[in-house]
Amino acid sequence: GREYDFEKTVTTCPYCGVGCQLELKTRDRKVIEVGSVYREGTPNPYGEACVKGRFGYDFINHPDRLKKPLIKRNGSFEEAEWEEALSMVAERLTEIKDEYGGRALAGLSSAKCTNEENYLMQKFMRAVIGTNSVDHCARLCHASTVAGLVKAFGSGAMTNSIAEIEGSDVIFVIGSNPTENHPVIGSKMKKAQKQGTKLIVADPRQIELSSLAEVAIQHRPGTDVALLNGLIHVIIDEGLADQKFIEERTENYEYLASVVEDYTPEKVEEITGVEAVKIKKAARLYAEADKAAIYFAMGITQHRTGTDNVLSVANLALLTGNVGRESTGVNPLRGQNNVQGACDLGALSNVYPGYQSVEDPEIKEKFARAWETEELSEEVGLTVVEIFKQAGKEIKGLYIIGENPVISDPDQRHIEESLDKLDFLVVEDIFLTETAKFADVVLPAACFAEKEGTFTNTERRIQKVNQAIEPPGEARADWKIISEISTRMGYQMNYDSPAEIMAEIAEVTPIYGGIYADRLGDKGLQWPCKDREDPGTKFLHQGEFARGKGKFHPVTYIPPAEEVDEEYDFIMMTGRMLYHFHTGTMTRNSEPIDKHEPDAYLEINEKDAKKLRIKEGDRVRVTSRRGEVETNVRIGERVQPGQIFMPFHYAESPANRLTNPVLDQDAKIPELKVTAVKIEKV
Ligand code: SF4
Repeated sequence: GREYDFEKTVTTCPYCGVGCQLELKTRDRKVIEVGSVYREGTPNPYGEACVKGRFGYDFINHPDRLKKPLIKRNGSFEEAEWEEALSMVAERLTEIKDEYGGRALAGLSSAKCTNEENYLMQKFMRAVIGTNSVDHCARLCHASTVAGLVKAFGSGAMTNSIAEIEGSDVIFVIGSNPTENHPVIGSKMKKAQKQGTKLIVADPRQIELSSLAEVAIQHRPGTDVALLNGLIHVIIDEGLADQKFIEERTENYEYLASVVEDYTPEKVEEITGVEAVKIKKAARLYAEADKAAIYFAMGITQHRTGTDNVLSVANLALLTGNVGRESTGVNPLRGQNNVQGACDLGALSNVYPGYQSVEDPEIKEKFARAWETEELSEEVGLTVVEIFKQAGKEIKGLYIIGENPVISDPDQRHIEESLDKLDFLVVEDIFLTETAKFADVVLPAACFAEKEGTFTNTERRIQKVNQAIEPPGEARADWKIISEISTRMGYQMNYDSPAEIMAEIAEVTPIYGGIYADRLGDKGLQWPCKDREDPGTKFLHQGEFARGKGKFHPVTYIPPAEEVDEEYDFIMMTGRMLYHFHTGTMTRNSEPIDKHEPDAYLEINEKDAKKLRIKEGDRVRVTSRRGEVETNVRIGERVQPGQIFMPFHYAESPANRLTNPVLDQDAKIPELKVTAVKIEKV
C-alpha cells in the first residue's frame, strides 16, 4: 500500500551536539517521518533519539522556506535570479574590499553548516577577502572552553566519549542541564545512576538530574570559581589529591595550592550560598572515586569569567588524576550539531583549521601555498561581538551564513542598530530570519536533509550527512553558493563534491589528517586522526597531554559584572528547554513540537511571586539596563528566590534584549548567564 511507499536515508540529526543518527523517510520530495537507527558504536546505539530529532522535521517542508534569492529595492524584498544576486554580492564585496581593504569585511559562518561548508567559508574570508574576521556562534557558547582547555591541556575539545558515561563511578555535572539540552546524554546519565554511578549536580536551578544526585548543589549564579576552589581546598586539605599524577604529569601545582588556601568551605559558603558540609561531601565523593568525569556547558562558559571557570574545572580534574583515562575527563557538551566542526575547521577569528594560529608565520606560509593566495593576514580578526561593535566603523560589509544574531546575541537593540549601519549585508539561510530582514541580498540555502557532507559531534566524531531530498525551489547548498561567489570574485572554487573538499581539509589539518569521506562508514571517526591508517581517538591525553604536561592555572573569584541593587532586584539566567532549539528557526516552524511550548515565559519562585502579587500565567514586564520584554509567568521551585529563568528561543519575548554584552577578556564570550533585572506586572 501507499504507506510503505517511501525511501529511507540515514543521516545525522540537525539539532544538538550528541549527533544521533536518524532515518529520514521521504516521499514526493518530502520528509514524512523520522525513524530510529540502531547502530553499534554511534552516539545512540539503541536508536533512542529525543523529541526534537524525532518530531522536529516539519520545518524542512515548511511553506515559508526561502526558494529564490531576494534583493532589497527601495526597502522591500523582490525575488531575483541567482545570476543577478550572486553578481551583486560579488561586486559589492569587491567594491568594499577595493575601497577600504579586506579588514572592512567580516563573515559569520555557522554551526548548522557542514564541516566542508565551514572550511570553505573561512577559506573564502581569508584567501579571497584577506581578513581573519570570520567567526560563529561558538564565540557565544564555548569560546571560553577552548581558551581554558587549550591552556590547561593543549586541546579545547571534550576529552572523553559519550559511550564512556556508563563506566564512570562519579559524574559531576556543573552548569549543564543534559536532560533538556542533550537528551540522549541525559538518559545515559540517568541509566548510569540507576546502575550505581553517583551524581554530583551543581546548578543555580533545580534541574531534573538534581533529584537523582548524591549531592545537589544550588550555588548563586556566577560563583563557580569560588565553588570549585572550595572543592579543591578540601581535597588538598584532606590529603585526597593524586600526588603521583601531579608529580608525573602536571606543572604549577604549588601555585594552585597557595591560591586556594583562602577558600575554606566556610568562606565559600558565604560567597556561593552552599553549606560548607555539602562542599566537603562533594569534594570527597569526587576525589575518592576511581573514575570521575566532569560534564559542563553554558552555565560554566557564558560569564565574563568563563575562561576562569573552565580553568577551575580543569584544575579539579588534574588534581585528582581524572583525565587521560577511560570514563574520566573534562567534557564540555557542545550545543549545536556542528559547533565542534565549525571550530575545528577554523570558523574562528584567531585560528586556521585544526586550531593552527593565524599569527604563526610558518602556518600562514603553509596555507598561502596550499590555497595559492597572497591575501592571508597575520592579524587576529574580530570576533562576533566585536564585529557588531565595529559595524559602520571599521566593518562596512558582512556576510552571514545560517546565524540569527538578532535573537541569539546579547543586547538586541545594539545588534539591530549595528546591522542598520552596514553598507552591505548578505544573509544566506533557510528562512527569512529576524536577521535576514536587515539584509540587502538574501540567498536561499539547503538544509541538512538536502545536501551531502559531514558534521562533527560533541565527542569529536565526524559523521556523514546524507541527502534525502532535493532543496525547495531554487535553494542551494551553502558550499555551492560560497564557491560561486568566490569564483565570481576571481578566485576559482570548482569543487565537485563535499568529499573533494574533505580531502583538501585532510591535507592542511593534522587532527583531520586521516578523515576522508570514504573512511567514515556507519560510525564515523573521532579526531585526532592523523592518517589513513589511524582508527581515531576515543579519549584524549592518554600518557601525555596535547601540550606535554597538564598545567594548573590558579584563579581567584571575581563576582559577575551585574549584581542586584534597589532598582534591579532580580538575577536573570537564560537557557534552553527540551522542546525548542536556539533561535527557534527549526523547532518553532515544526508544529508537532511547537504546540507543546508555543509561548514564551519566565520562571519565578513561589515566594517572589507572592511578594509581587503575581499569579501563574500573568503577563509581566522584565526590564534590564538595556531594554524591556513582556512575557508570561510560571511559578515553581526550580529557581531560588531572587532569581528568574528565561528561555531565549522566543522572538516575541527575546531574553537577549536584556542580557549584558560585557566580555570575558580572554575568550570574548559575553556574560549571558547573569543579568540584573526588575519585574513588574502589566
Ligand atoms: Fe538530535 Fe540531540 Fe535529540 Fe539526539 S539528543 S535526537 S542529536 S537533538
